[in-house]
Amino acid sequence: MKQCPNPCPVVAANRNSMAALRAHLLEGYQCLDAWLALSQLVTDVRQRRDCLERAAVLAPENEDIQVAYLEAVLVVEPDNRAAITRLNEIRTLRLLSDVKTSHFHEQPRARLLGDILVSMGAISPAELREVLRTQQTGTPITTDRRLGQLLLRQGLITPSKLAHALIIQQQERSRLRIAPQVLGEYLVEQNYITPQQLELALAEQLRLDQKNQRLSLGQILVRLNMISESLIERAAREHDQAFWAKYGY
Ligand SMILES: [Zn+2]
Repeated sequence: MKQCPNPCPVVAANRNSMAALRAHLLEGYQCLDAWLALSQLVTDVRQRRDCLERAAVLAPENEDIQVAYLEAVLVVEPDNRAAITRLNEIRTLRLLSDVKTSHFHEQPRARLLGDILVSMGAISPAELREVLRTQQTGTPITTDRRLGQLLLRQGLITPSKLAHALIIQQQERSRLRIAPQVLGEYLVEQNYITPQQLELALAEQLRLDQKNQRLSLGQILVRLNMISESLIERAAREHDQAFWAKYGY
């Protein structure tokens, strides 16, 4: 899997050429710009949704892209309640992010992750409330990732427990089509790795993240000898080819 610089020079030169963008992606580039450019070129609403889904996977922390993806989901499935709820949640939090309204900050977007951790018995409801309450005085928790980091930093949970909770959350959201399928899920679905290996790799990613070492899930799976570099490249390529095959290219 090759990473592109941002902005990507190939996309800058070929923004309006579907063939050039397709060729670029099929060379194995994980290119956010290319998926965004494609999402503007395609005319089929499902195809547009799928392009934004790929972009959303590559930029999980980019709220604009998550919103664009959810809006595209709603064009295809106007009654997707989960997507409507999630979109409203993001919009409300955005409106409130500059306003210190303690009342609303007690119901952060991370609620689901917090609920999962409580239901797993990883933390108590009182601990969760305490963490969310102390956050009111600082920057509000706007992402699940931040809640997770905070709990890790305070030693309230282990990376393994957080990894388990994040996997449950991702599965729930994918099932409801409010989050795109990430590479890790695809690898499990295609039996390249087991769910246990995915969880171990995610826990390792969280551990490294705490030491400010950012590695992709793919890099970690290779490092832990759970998959070879050539196999993960093959899987990523299959994932891309499946996309094009679906639309008859
Ligand atoms: Zn590129």
